[in-house]
Amino acid sequence: MAEKERRLYIAGNWKMHKTSGEARTLAAEVAKAVGGSSRTIMIAPPFTALAAVRDALDSSRVRLGAQNMACEESGAHTGEIAPAMLTDLGVETVILGHSERRAIYGEDDTLINRKVRLARAHGLEVILCVGETIEQREAGEAETVVSSQLEQGLAGVEELSGVVVAYEPVWAIGTGRTASPSDANAMHALIRSNVESWYDRDAAEALIIQYGGSVKPGNAAELLSQQHIDGALVGGASLEADSFVAIVRALE
Ligand code: PEP
Repeated sequence: MAEKERRLYIAGNWKMHKTSGEARTLAAEVAKAVGGSSRTIMIAPPFTALAAVRDALDSSRVRLGAQNMACEESGAHTGEIAPAMLTDLGVETVILGHSERRAIYGEDDTLINRKVRLARAHGLEVILCVGETIEQREAGEAETVVSSQLEQGLAGVEELSGVVVAYEPVWAIGTGRTASPSDANAMHALIRSNVESWYDRDAAEALIIQYGGSVKPGNAAELLSQQHIDGALVGGASLEADSFVAIVRALE
């Protein structure tokens, strides 16, 4: 498979924004505007708005995503959401290992790996987020950190179909700073080559690797045209239909 034959995948992470009414309206606007797009598209509202967004997406081709998931099937886990609760609501994809979960809520690679394996066991597509902090980048550790997060996140995952990787340099998230397209592409190439050595060439070539970190309508086309960048995980710009749809439509 030639690299750019991979279908571009644009995902929106709404983080802790939108009541269910607001989410329903935004989801309906997005679904209507992207009807004819050939891209894979996903939106991940807060848990409380999943049902409203599912109803608004109706028969649209936009996938329903969640922003996190528990590491256990069920039980005494106050405040957590089990995989079966997500699939019951029609969720198809779950974002795991987001840097905000790592930094604010102390999620480590072992915990994230448990979630990755559990999500796949439930048939949920996983977007596994990896990325270095600015201190790690300045210390020349970006490649080592990202490779290690990826290796630990994928430990015990035998089959890579159903796994998407999002490279999100922490210093670019919500800051307005983006990695230069060539730096981002170089990290994506490293991720792909790691995956080739751990799995095989076909798995590496088929792997969708999204870039995340201040993706906006103005920079999306240049990022998405890079050889190893197969889509975007979009935070701030996914909160308005116009900007998210402009990113979906970049290069189309
Ligand atoms: C994100 O939250 O995954 C993200 C990339 O956010 P932003 O686009 O706002 O930088």
